[in-house]
Amino acid sequence: MSDLRLDSIVKRFGAVTAVDHVDLTVPQGCFVCLLGPSGCGKTTLLRMIAGLEMPSGGRLLLDGEDITALPAHRRGFGMVFQSLALFPHLTVAENVAYALSIRGADKAAQRARVTDLLELIQLPDIAERQVSQLSGGQRQRVAIARALAVDPRLFLLDEPLSALDAKLREALQVELRLLQRRLGVTTILVTHDQREAMTMADTIVVMDRGRVQQSGRPLEIYRNPANAFVADFIGTSNLLDGRARGGGRIELPGGEVAASGGPESGAVTASIRPEDLRLSAGAPAGANCLSGEVVFVRDVGQTVETHVDCAGQRLVAVAIPEGDPPFSSGDRVTVELPAEAIVVFPA
Ligand code: ATP
Repeated sequence: MSDLRLDSIVKRFGAVTAVDHVDLTVPQGCFVCLLGPSGCGKTTLLRMIAGLEMPSGGRLLLDGEDITALPAHRRGFGMVFQSLALFPHLTVAENVAYALSIRGADKAAQRARVTDLLELIQLPDIAERQVSQLSGGQRQRVAIARALAVDPRLFLLDEPLSALDAKLREALQVELRLLQRRLGVTTILVTHDQREAMTMADTIVVMDRGRVQQSGRPLEIYRNPANAFVADFIGTSNLLDGRARGGGRIELPGGEVAASGGPESGAVTASIRPEDLRLSAGAPAGANCLSGEVVFVRDVGQTVETHVDCAGQRLVAVAIPEGDPPFSSGDRVTVELPAEAIVVFPA
């Protein structure tokens, strides 16, 4: 269990800069999610932390000690990577005990540790099973137990749940988070799934094109995205093209609205969350109200999503339904955009 610091880490593959001067501090016991679209460099960054890839520049420090050139097997990290599958010819117990047997732990100690770890992943009765007899979710949990067998200084996971179906994935996200909290192990997880990151992370690091776009607590990032990329990637946002008119006023194709801040002039992107929009029947009356036409209603029971065209720009509003959806395609509506919910970025 340790503090990790990344100091201006760079990785180049020929002409491609996969990771571009990343600075990051991961305090002891913290759960960090590296989040970003395919190709943003998150796996490469994790592989450098693991010692599987050598940085082109920068330093990695663990508790102040420079580990940039330390080989992977001497770092004492636990890893769950897609490429590190379970050994198919070994039983569950032999898989979990693998690192302990390499270290020469005696058989009784190995058995005790395996029992503890299988309890921890809530699969106490499968020690003697063959890997081929396990479901996908059981395999992932065994891989997690195997990585935790030697009390890792850092626990590194690369998309460990991505091959599972949605329900199981969501259940294991919660279990993995609870397990990490109980053990207090410093953890870094790579994912492209923002919901997964929001569920598990103390700190989310949003990456794009090799760079950190923003890092912070999940709700902090959700509420105060640093730029349009983050606003769009974390949750869903309505992104509207407009022009700043000074004093927080933004001209949108459908009319002028007041926002809580942003640039004084020039082309801007205004971002507003679907749950912050308010829809009502009839013509606009009052500030920050635009007129629109409902083009689509998606009612999935739990929430109702209303797509509205406002002078050529599409806005999506989400609400918890009370009875039948209040609007249907073709209805004229008023969309209210509360000023405090609009975040404005330079375009
Ligand atoms: P994904 O979610 O698709 O795995 P990622 O965010 O993890 O994407 P990386 O795998 O880190 O992204 O890749 C970042 C960039 O570096 C990509 O442009 C990729 O093509 C490139 N890259 C990664 N590994 C290598 C390599 N061994 N040789 C050359 N280019 C590489």
